[in-house]
Amino acid sequence: MSDYHGLTRQEYALALLRSCYGYDGFRGQQWDIIDHTLDGGDSIVLMPTGGGKSICYQLPGLMSDDGFAIVISPLLALMNDQIDALQQNGVPALALNSEKSEAENRQTMDLLMQGKVKLLYISPEKLLSEIDRWSTSITQRICLFAVDEAHCISQWGHDFRPEYTQLGCLKQRYPHVPVMALTATADRITRDDIATQLNIPDARLFISSFDRPNISLNVVTGSSGKQKLRQIVQFINLHQGESGIIYCLRRKDTETMAANLSRLGISARAFHAGMSVNDKQQVQRDFINDDVKVVCATIAFGMGIDKSNVRYVIHSNMPRNIESYYQEIGRAGRDGMPAEALMFYNYGDVVTLQQFARQSGQVQVNTDKLRSMQQFAESGVCRRRILLSYFNERFDHDCHNCDVCDNPPERFDGTRLAQMALSAIKRTDEQASLYTVTDILRGMRKADIIDKGYDRLKTFGVGHDLNVLEWNAYLLQMLQMGLFEVAYNENNHLKVTEYGNEVLFGRQSIELNRFKRRAFKQEKAAPAIVEETQPAKQMDKALFDKLRDLRKALAQANHIAPYMVFSDKSLTAMATEKPTTQAEFGIIYGVGDVKCQKYWRPFTAAIRAHLSQQ
Ligand code: ADP
Ligand code: ZN
Repeated sequence: MSDYHGLTRQEYALALLRSCYGYDGFRGQQWDIIDHTLDGGDSIVLMPTGGGKSICYQLPGLMSDDGFAIVISPLLALMNDQIDALQQNGVPALALNSEKSEAENRQTMDLLMQGKVKLLYISPEKLLSEIDRWSTSITQRICLFAVDEAHCISQWGHDFRPEYTQLGCLKQRYPHVPVMALTATADRITRDDIATQLNIPDARLFISSFDRPNISLNVVTGSSGKQKLRQIVQFINLHQGESGIIYCLRRKDTETMAANLSRLGISARAFHAGMSVNDKQQVQRDFINDDVKVVCATIAFGMGIDKSNVRYVIHSNMPRNIESYYQEIGRAGRDGMPAEALMFYNYGDVVTLQQFARQSGQVQVNTDKLRSMQQFAESGVCRRRILLSYFNERFDHDCHNCDVCDNPPERFDGTRLAQMALSAIKRTDEQASLYTVTDILRGMRKADIIDKGYDRLKTFGVGHDLNVLEWNAYLLQMLQMGLFEVAYNENNHLKVTEYGNEVLFGRQSIELNRFKRRAFKQEKAAPAIVEETQPAKQMDKALFDKLRDLRKALAQANHIAPYMVFSDKSLTAMATEKPTTQAEFGIIYGVGDVKCQKYWRPFTAAIRAHLSQQ
């Protein structure tokens, strides 16, 4: 066993974790993974976004005396961000890729020769074209091949990259170098594919829980149009100064949303695949630098950015499946601090998504996935339970960090309401859409209702004491229960099912969840942070705001993103612990040796100034 400067392997690893990153301990399986790698073992690491994958491959590189780790990553933007962040911590990391000049790449190779690089980030194509040309004095010192975003290797995965399939030759050519494949995509086929294609059949599998306990899960049913916008604005105003993403279904919705928010004085921009590369990069940069607070985006946003302080993700429409939903909300709270996911869901979304599913190549699969998504949206039990069980994970308690746990739905006998609705559907000869049925129930004398003579139906106006939101919410629940179906190929007309008939004729009864109007008035109490030690002291919000401004100014002066100076979590710790000396500052979460040197003066000065004003 090699000697780690007189320390045990684990002691040495912990010392580096403290001095380079400012962390006090490993999270979850991080240490087991590192230990296994240092023993020379291959591994497949499945961890959710924000779970802390990077430490797993960075430490083996850092711990190696004269060796270095190769990190294979498909996204250039992400690569450059990671390197900037590592360099801020004084970690010798460099990248070889096509975006760099010849001269830069040559210099990187020189430094590598001199043993001055511990982590080399590289794209798969670059690695495969270069590695044959490297001298053995370099290749001998490779201590690890880490394959990040390893699901890209699988045709079944959602980001297939043909270049990745060539990586199997690494194990053949360098059998003694451990391979670590990392991904946040958990399904079995992808996992098996990774092992096969990388030639690591004996790789140990490390599966972490996919739970992201710091993200609170919330769904708002029924809102649309202006009302939805109002709720979104209320929500954003409760998160002033924080970064968030709003996902919209269509490109034009992102633009409308951004324009509406901007008009209301909110710093927002649109982002979608139809924009020029330059415009997209600009929006990403502004968002990362905290110059733009809210990005209204289609699903194309978020892949290539590593921003740890996204505090909320709003889905302005229901996403098409749980996989997308989970991936998108995963972009919030990567720093482990409380974050919120807020999803809007209404009948219009269901119709649109059904259309998408029917136009897709795999109608059955996509329709089933959509149904699971609806089940999540309509859930009467803890939403995290639904989510994790969808990913086949056992989770046998309520999370107390979702809207259902916070505010359990009140159940009531909905048979009479269902009978009104079903009877109205029948009396239109099943020739009306959900919107028309709602109008009939509420007794709305609109032109098309009168034209069709629906105002003379017996059921016209029987449900006038419920408003449109309430009816929408209840009809959605009835649809979800299967009392009626939507004939998507027949102008979305509603058809009563067998089960619906049972209820209509009083042979079965049903229960509904009472509709609650959601207003975003007061801030939710922050959920307990699940890991590390949560200080009992109170965070000083005014001080936090000052430190955030200071962070921004320092980031600007150093031409880096604010989160690379310190994470929100570090700022929270500072605004709680209020360190006023270098020594006190040095033990704050996320303050490693290099950052302590660099930043203790301005931060402790700001804290002292704040304290003296009180
Ligand atoms: P992933 O690559 O899995 O999405 P990261 O490696 O970016 O996740 O880590 C997510 C966040 O968790 C980062 O802000 C990182 O600094 C933090 N983190 C990782 N490991 C630890 C640890 N052992 N202690 C404290 N924070 C950690
Ligand atoms: Zn819950």
